[in-house]
This record gives sequence, structure tokens and C-alpha cells, in this order.
Amino acid sequence: MERTLILLKPDTVSKKICGKVISRFEEAGFRVIGCKMIKLSRERLAEHYAHIADKPFYPEVEAFMQSTPVIAMVLEADGIIAKMRDMLGVTDCLAAAPGTIRAEYGSKGGDSKMRNIVHASDSEETAEKEVWRFFNEDELFAY
Ligand code: ADP
Repeated sequence: MERTLILLKPDTVSKKICGKVISRFEEAGFRVIGCKMIKLSRERLAEHYAHIADKPFYPEVEAFMQSTPVIAMVLEADGIIAKMRDMLGVTDCLAAAPGTIRAEYGSKGGDSKMRNIVHASDSEETAEKEVWRFFNEDELFAY
């Protein structure tokens, strides 16, 4: 069984569509095994987004990701990492395939590459690191 780390980003929290997004996950048969609201510290965010920290747009991403708390979740299902990335669509909401979460709920403005609703782990190796970056063992549940 595979696990993935999800962050419902500040645009999802501000638009009050967390429930809609979580419903999509549940309807797909994904099991929520961990869930909490957190405020991202500058340090944890820099670690999470180390691969984009040197990009010119990073300061804007940092301000965005700290603008409200986020909801961190761990979800579990067979092949969930690829299935979740497919369900989200590509980074730029304007380029995301119709029916994907980013196409449906993400920004269609000039910030369509940044305000894209959800973060999801992109590989098994990343997922393993990301799950333990945000959760302790006693915050994950088998049921
Ligand atoms: P993804 O979240 O689709 O895996 P990346 O890991 O490449 O995408 O980027 C991390 C996050 O940084 C994106 O989800 C998005 O919020 C932001 N981002 C990526 N590219 C840009 C960009 N060109 N301009 C503004 N923000 C961006």
C-alpha cells in the first residue's frame, strides 16, 4: 500500500473548498490516515520546497504558503502517488486537463502556476521524506 503527503494550500483554505477537495479524494477510494492543520514555518517550507528555493518566484511562493494555515494529510491507496498527481493535473492550473482538481478549483489568473490548490508527493522516495517531515508515527492511523 502506497502513501502520499498532501497539503491543502492557502488558496483552498481561503476559498473554503477543503471539503470539496477531500471529497474528491474519498470518492477515489483514498484512505485518510493522518490529518492536521498547521502553520508552515519559513524553515520547514524551505526544506519542503528546496528544489525551487533558488527560483526567482520562490519569495512569492513562500509568502503565499504562509498566508494562512494549511491542512496536511497522509492518504493511502494502491498506486496513490501517480493516481493523485493525475487527479491534480499539472502545476499550471491553466494547462491542467479538464476535470482535474487544479483545472476545476485553481487560479485562472496571472498566478495560475502558484495558486494551484494542493501539493502532492511526486515519487515514492519524496513521499517517504515528506510524510515524516510533517507527521510523527503516532499521528498516523491504521484502521
Ligand atoms: P508541483 O507542485 O506541481 O509538483 P513544483 O514542485 O515544480 O510543482 O513547484 C512547487 C510549487 O511552486 C508549485 O505547486 C507552485 O505552487 C509553485 N510554482 C511552481 N512553478 C511556479 C512558477 N513558475 N511561478 C510561481 N509559482 C510556481
